[in-house]
Amino acid sequence: MTLFDARHLSWPKTRALAQAGAVALLPVGSTEAHGPHLPLSVDVVIAEEVCRRVAARLSRDCVVFPPVTYALTDFAAPFPGTVTLNADVARQMLTGILTGIVGGGFQTVAVVNHHLEPAHFRVVHDAGKAVKGVVVPDHRRAPTGPLLGHEFMHGGSHAGRYETSLMLAAAPHLVDVAAMKSLPALEIDLPGAIKGGAKNFLECGGADAYFGAPAEATAEEGERLFTLITDATLASIESALS
Ligand SMILES: [Zn+2]
Repeated sequence: MTLFDARHLSWPKTRALAQAGAVALLPVGSTEAHGPHLPLSVDVVIAEEVCRRVAARLSRDCVVFPPVTYALTDFAAPFPGTVTLNADVARQMLTGILTGIVGGGFQTVAVVNHHLEPAHFRVVHDAGKAVKGVVVPDHRRAPTGPLLGHEFMHGGSHAGRYETSLMLAAAPHLVDVAAMKSLPALEIDLPGAIKGGAKNFLECGGADAYFGAPAEATAEEGERLFTLITDATLASIESALS
């Protein structure tokens, strides 16, 4: 239904929306290196775009809170511009934000997270479990994850074809297309490297903070991916509402 930006609401209007059953959405991203062709804000841009698409299709009004733009992001830490928080700080920050939103009367809060570093997503799930009424959609899981492509599941969902396509669909002005087209494909099993003990993108073999094949990205593919992610996010929220 209608999307309300929490930054532009008065408190009585916020209360009225919460009492009428509006769902609060909290976009979560990071400030993190995403290859030489994308900005540090990629995860935030994607999370906010998913919130817009969810709000347009959800059966309730949505209040979108200001995004969380800092995260635990140890893998990109060696690259300038990346700001990483330790797990305890990140967990406390998220738990505090969610407690505040729920305290305002919202019965359902969905955390729309698009910083996919495993340790960070664990923190997001921990924070979600600690606060009543919070749902944490996770599009990595079946059935959606495998539909997002081989690169997403095996090659690395970081600044490759997957994320670059999403950015071409959501914010093409933020993509350096010439740089994108010049990048050779990097066929590295990022999840496998992480499981094998690599501690950052350099140790995984990603000297430029990207993996996969950004040069193959298209806006059309980004649209298709957004639809799949939005479907999964909506299903998770709708099931929490029923
Ligand atoms: Zn990302």
